[in-house]
Amino acid sequence: MTHDITIKLADEAATLKCGAEIAKVLVPGLSIYLHGDLGAGKTTWVRGLLHQLGHTGKVKSPTYTLVEPYQVSLSGDLLNVYHFDLYRFTDPEEWDAAGFRDYFNASSLCLVEWPEQAGELLPAADIELFLQPYKDGRKLTLHSNSAIGGAMLTRFNPII
Ligand code: ADP
Ligand code: MG
Repeated sequence: MTHDITIKLADEAATLKCGAEIAKVLVPGLSIYLHGDLGAGKTTWVRGLLHQLGHTGKVKSPTYTLVEPYQVSLSGDLLNVYHFDLYRFTDPEEWDAAGFRDYFNASSLCLVEWPEQAGELLPAADIELFLQPYKDGRKLTLHSNSAIGGAMLTRFNPII
């Protein structure tokens, strides 16, 4: 089942809230790919999601480290969240060498900025998110590619 949702995000607070609303309907073992130009709001959205999951510290852009790991709790179970930013990713051999393949597993959540930089290395996303400038804010589209992603989006509250 595929599912598409488009919403307008008037300001940064709306982008944070949208990430938080996805956090409320999350299931483990998912991957979400974030598309949009530099400054589109991808990291902001991830920040809203992580804060809703109980992360209280900083959420920095993993532009140089490629990935930033977080541990949060989801319905009482430990959830590993991996926030990738592949903007500077150039070497496909680095993918396996760094163990990134293993990060995509049934008990993790992988959030990937600039997934197109990894080409065919990445598994298919459950949900793809597209952020574009719109008036003074942003337009965001969520698209599901899997049954699990589609089921999640049917429970998502789009009223931001
Ligand atoms: P990216 O990770 O896509 O490069 P960032 O999230 O780091 O983008 O930065 C986005 C910038 O846009 C931040 O300055 C943030 O405050 C701002 N921003 C985020 N969402 C919105 C929005 N809906 N409307 C206006 N500005 C926004
Ligand atoms: Mg970013």
